Amino acid sequence: MERRRFLLTLAAGLAGAAGVRGAAVLGRADPGRSAPPARPVAARPAAAHAPAPARPHGVAGLRAIDPPAGVVSRLPGDGSTLALTIDDGVSTEVVAAFITLARRTGIRLTFFPNGRYRSWTDNATVLRPLVDSGQVALGNHTWSHPDVTTLPDSAVAEEIRRNKEFLWTTFGVRDTPFFRPPYGAHNARTDRIAADQGHPTIALWDGTLGDSRVLTGAEVLAAARQWFTAQRIVIGHANHRAVTTVYDEMLAVISQRDLRTVTLADVWAGPAARLRGAVAAGRAPVG
Ligand SMILES: [Zn+2]
Repeated sequence: MERRRFLLTLAAGLAGAAGVRGAAVLGRADPGRSAPPARPVAARPAAAHAPAPARPHGVAGLRAIDPPAGVVSRLPGDGSTLALTIDDGVSTEVVAAFITLARRTGIRLTFFPNGRYRSWTDNATVLRPLVDSGQVALGNHTWSHPDVTTLPDSAVAEEIRRNKEFLWTTFGVRDTPFFRPPYGAHNARTDRIAADQGHPTIALWDGTLGDSRVLTGAEVLAAARQWFTAQRIVIGHANHRAVTTVYDEMLAVISQRDLRTVTLADVWAGPAARLRGAVAAGRAPVG
């Protein structure tokens, strides 16, 4: 039990892969945040926190709220949670490594797959139980990763619809509220189309591993040290191997800062998802 809790704390640790343009988009979209406030890196004592019981679904002490219509780029309120979001899935090996990490440590992750990459079907058998348990959440990132702002309405809708169908047929997920536009490129028109397709929440980010391009492990780790702070949504990518070489070091950053990982669905979930979570956790499905 004690060891499990320790692992859950560590679980806050892994970060995702993001598009090559992630950092640039971050800076463009929100210049006020491109240079994050310097938070003290020194870890707070873990003992200051009361132990949280492990649950098979959901996160102890965290009650999901309705997903908002519009853009989110940070977790709401004050807290000590970190949302690691991993995009694309160009590499079957890297996707597999993230899944192994999740199984080994209990870290909670949100994936934004593009169905065009075979990595997701290659790994579906091992990933699906994590999706079923809620440890891994999924969002829609389009089928083939275009800049949707350049496409006509019908093509935007088709990119989203096709990937939504892929998430349903491959992982049994059909009601994720989250759409992450490739490159973070979106506008009122594409947001409306996403909402019409069942994704009212445009899930951006306010921290990045910068690993949509090829980095060294040291560079990925430096980004983790910069961006792994409370209530951030951090973007990473399952595209290049570097991130997989610094998993343990990233987990240590999370642990030292007394953060815990959450999925976006742990934070924002509609009534149907909350009910499923309650059932999975063995709680009475009341209200
Ligand atoms: Zn992407």
